[in-house]
Amino acid sequence: MTAPSMLASYINGKFIDSEHYFDNINPVDGSVISKISEANHQMIDEAVAAAKASKWAQLTVNERSILLNKVADVMREREQAFIDAEMADTGKSLFQVQTIDIPRGTANFRFFADLVKFSASESFITDTPQGTKALNYSVNKPLGVVAIISPWNLPLLLATWKIAPAMACGNSVIFKPSEETSSTAFLLAQVMDEVGIPKGAFNLVLGRGHAVGDAITSHKEIDAITFTGASATGQKIMASAAATVKPISFELGGKNSAVVFNDADIDKAVAGVARSTFTNCGQVCLCTEKVYVHRSLFSEFVNKLKQQAAAIKIGYPSDKDVFMGPLVSKVHQQKVLSYYQLAREEGAIVEHGGGVPKFGDARDSGCYIDPTILTGLDDHARINQEEIFGPVCHVSPFDDEAEVIKRVNDTPYGLAASLWTENLSRAHRVAPQIDVGLVWVNTWFLRDLRTPFGGTKLSGVGREGGQHSLAFYSEPSNICIHIDQ
Ligand code: NAD
Repeated sequence: MTAPSMLASYINGKFIDSEHYFDNINPVDGSVISKISEANHQMIDEAVAAAKASKWAQLTVNERSILLNKVADVMREREQAFIDAEMADTGKSLFQVQTIDIPRGTANFRFFADLVKFSASESFITDTPQGTKALNYSVNKPLGVVAIISPWNLPLLLATWKIAPAMACGNSVIFKPSEETSSTAFLLAQVMDEVGIPKGAFNLVLGRGHAVGDAITSHKEIDAITFTGASATGQKIMASAAATVKPISFELGGKNSAVVFNDADIDKAVAGVARSTFTNCGQVCLCTEKVYVHRSLFSEFVNKLKQQAAAIKIGYPSDKDVFMGPLVSKVHQQKVLSYYQLAREEGAIVEHGGGVPKFGDARDSGCYIDPTILTGLDDHARINQEEIFGPVCHVSPFDDEAEVIKRVNDTPYGLAASLWTENLSRAHRVAPQIDVGLVWVNTWFLRDLRTPFGGTKLSGVGREGGQHSLAFYSEPSNICIHIDQ
């Protein structure tokens, strides 16, 4: 596995280092992959000034679309470099990076480059009882300079899900990836440079959240902020954005449930819940952490889920049949392990896992963790209320539909849920009663880029996807023309 060894920021069309560097660590074995140069305040000011002065907004929609499709073309040509870099930073399995992270990152550019060309603006004929007539139409303008702050769990995929629509709408961007995962962001800056994206339209500033992230989101000249990350960070960003009242779009944490009804196809449900719990080591905001199973199926379900967990191959991410690599960092490993400990203190039965696998080689210095299944806690245990963000779920029995809807909704989060049932009426009846932004029935993480994506309560503000993204990244201006009679 290779990844770039020195990572610099990209500002006003140039790669720029500062004097301050930190190490980028490989979570497989704790080795240093690269040095990351952290942007300073002067560099952030330069990036914002360059973004404001950029000619990007003056290009036609068609010209922007052609350039963004070129970005996708070159990303496709460099796919292997992106795969290697993403695996080195995150320890994700080759299968996942090859089939989800990198192709979706490229697809985001193609999708929004095309969508923006075919999106229409509103128009109304005003016709009053007094006989006044007018034509109203709206013109969608860019917001200006958009700050994009992204997390480490799906680094390229989630960043491009914001960069592509923001740029398609004519905004210039200041992009700060997570300090844990800067490598694919750096490769993307190289691609932007090579395809001739105008200076200042795409700026990459590298660094840690409290230092660089905060300096960007509190910057007076930033016109909008789009953020994906933890709910607590979203609260801080909201406070710093309040001073200058700017649009925000937040995709935050989750505490997602799966519900297995007594009419579910149990094998499909077990396989689906195993996937929704253990994919990417549980580090997807949509992952399941609470499972409710009808009491009549409970023991059978838990036994079958344990068999699935036991069959998971954990190892080197580059090995073809490995499903789970390490967690992203030591800090995160310690956080998830502290929840495994808390589960025991709260009285959980550890049905499977609960610790750290041993390999007898360099991986023992990495950030590996067991896939874990818990039972025996009530809904108000901290394990069932707080986001853990690891490969772990708690399984509880339930007796009836109204009860389970109430229990699923009893969380401060509202991102996603999955329902397992073969009863169509039940699916239609229950799905809209779950207080989340995304409900899947008999599947999980099946995404159509045109559909609204986002959460309620602590899980976020606003929606991304298709026209929802274009609406956030544009400022509509209504023009009203009086029609003389
Ligand atoms: P995080 O909030 O710690 O970091 C996210 C980004 O914010 C990073 O780039 C970080 O450097 C930056 N940041 C940190 N402090 C900041 C500050 N004070 N000001 C500005 N920027 C700051 O989140 P994480 O640990 O990288 O990601 C995991 C979290 O993200 C989980 O809670 C997960 O549920 C959530 N997430 C949500 C979605 C979604 O679509 N709803 C998707 C992926 C991840």
